[in-house]
Amino acid sequence: MTSYAELANGGLTRIKPYQAGKPIEEVKRELGIDDVIKLASNECPLGMSPKAREAAIRAVEEGNFYPDSNGFYLKEKLCRRYGYDREMLTLGAGSNELINLLFEAFVNDRCNVVLPAYSFVVYAMEATVNAAPVKSVPLKNWQVDLDACLAAIDENTRVVAFANPSNPIGTAVSYARIHEFVRQVPKRTLVVIDEAYNEFNSGDPTYEDTAKWVADCENLVVSRTFSKAYGLAGLRVGYMVANPEISSLLNRLRAPFNVNSVALSAACAALDDQDFLQQVVNNNNTERERFGSFCREQGLEMIPSLANFVTIDFGQRDAQKLAADLLKRGVIVRPLVGYQLLSKLRVSIGTPEQNDRFFKALTELLGQA
Ligand SMILES: *Cc1c(COP(=O)(O)O)cnc(C)c1O
Repeated sequence: MTSYAELANGGLTRIKPYQAGKPIEEVKRELGIDDVIKLASNECPLGMSPKAREAAIRAVEEGNFYPDSNGFYLKEKLCRRYGYDREMLTLGAGSNELINLLFEAFVNDRCNVVLPAYSFVVYAMEATVNAAPVKSVPLKNWQVDLDACLAAIDENTRVVAFANPSNPIGTAVSYARIHEFVRQVPKRTLVVIDEAYNEFNSGDPTYEDTAKWVADCENLVVSRTFSKAYGLAGLRVGYMVANPEISSLLNRLRAPFNVNSVALSAACAALDDQDFLQQVVNNNNTERERFGSFCREQGLEMIPSLANFVTIDFGQRDAQKLAADLLKRGVIVRPLVGYQLLSKLRVSIGTPEQNDRFFKALTELLGQA
């Protein structure tokens, strides 16, 4: 028999499929329970803006037409709101697609990729698919160590990528340090800042719009998404800001209609509804405090988070077992076994009711032997 794996590009056989959080329906089906909440994929617990919902429904009515391949109105809104140049923007079916495109465009077997330890797993997958070795840089106090990243960059490093705030850890680096880093990295190395959780960090008094630095930093690439704070994860839309030459390469590589018309319309309306965004951020701030109090009361270590999830350490306990027991109680969380963090769970911050349910279930489980 023909081995198609042998015929495939070398890197492809060396990665495992991405392990997504379990969908609610799957848990209901498998465990035969009705009342299930998902605190596993950092989705927006308040749903989406009602305005985005209306825009999405209106767009469905025109679903017989192809979407605007250039995403004119969404780019227009982003340029007006943040002052970017249209030529710097690439739209994607989620920021994940944009990260894939960037790696596909620039990474190959003649270069390497520098990544902090415990990075979002997609970066390493894309490096491997594109046949580049990964140089992994240890964290410092669970924070991305930009000094160590800088030291790891050599003449063959094509990309250094990190998420800020990071995932699955949730810590963030100061904007002043990131800006300094971006200026220190040699121009032949692309600096990718993945800001999937950007909106949750915007209350930081030192906050800066890193994408504004692109005008002066030709090797800086910033990715953002509507999946998390804007609540459009299922619609798949994100954007990347990079210098016009890089953007033009990505726009050549992407599929012509990569972002669908429902997602484009919903994203435009979501950007206009900053009140809804503020509600999401407020809920997250208040509830993250409650996670902190809960962990203190229970004597659990929680890594300080600036995102919409927290990572909790359970010491000697098997976190995977805890996750399975929580699942039986209808609460889906994310064990970090894939990252070899066997004592930790990542829990997305939900509504007050959802979090109460998590606190209650976990308290019961911790009370058992
Ligand atoms: C969720 C997430 C993404 C991907 O989000 P999309 O839905 O593809 O936009 C990218 N990076 C990080 C760090 C994430 O947590």
